Amino acid sequence: MKSVFPVQYKNKTYRLVNNYVASTYTRCDMCGSHPIIEVSVIRSNDGQTLRVGNNCIDRITNRRVSRWFKNYRRKRENLMRNRKYIDGISLILNAYEMNELTFQITDGDVKKLRKALERMCNGLKPTRSQEQIAECYINRKAKA
Ligand SMILES: [Zn+2]
Repeated sequence: MKSVFPVQYKNKTYRLVNNYVASTYTRCDMCGSHPIIEVSVIRSNDGQTLRVGNNCIDRITNRRVSRWFKNYRRKRENLMRNRKYIDGISLILNAYEMNELTFQITDGDVKKLRKALERMCNGLKPTRSQEQIAECYINRKAKA
């Protein structure tokens, strides 16, 4: 994003202020199209703020930034959704490295947990088997 913004439009320089999914009726300040669902908020250096839809933000940046935003929001949602796995696996792996685990874990499962953690920290959904192994060890840790 730093390579895209600030962007020039009609002799003004705009910075990106925010990007969100609208929960209320919003119209695009640039083309008047409405309603817009995904909103990018940009502000010029003379203080003018515009709420613009995907078509317009892609047009003025000359890039598919709306796709990038969508991808970013999805990753952020996945991170929040997988919070309990991320925290749980981190605790287990830390305890393992400190030799403080009170239950047995195989090297193979440690590798699997590391891989699952890495995947989820990158904002991806865990696979079904990663979910299962995470559940299994998080439960075991809770009982230990
Ligand atoms: Zn527009």
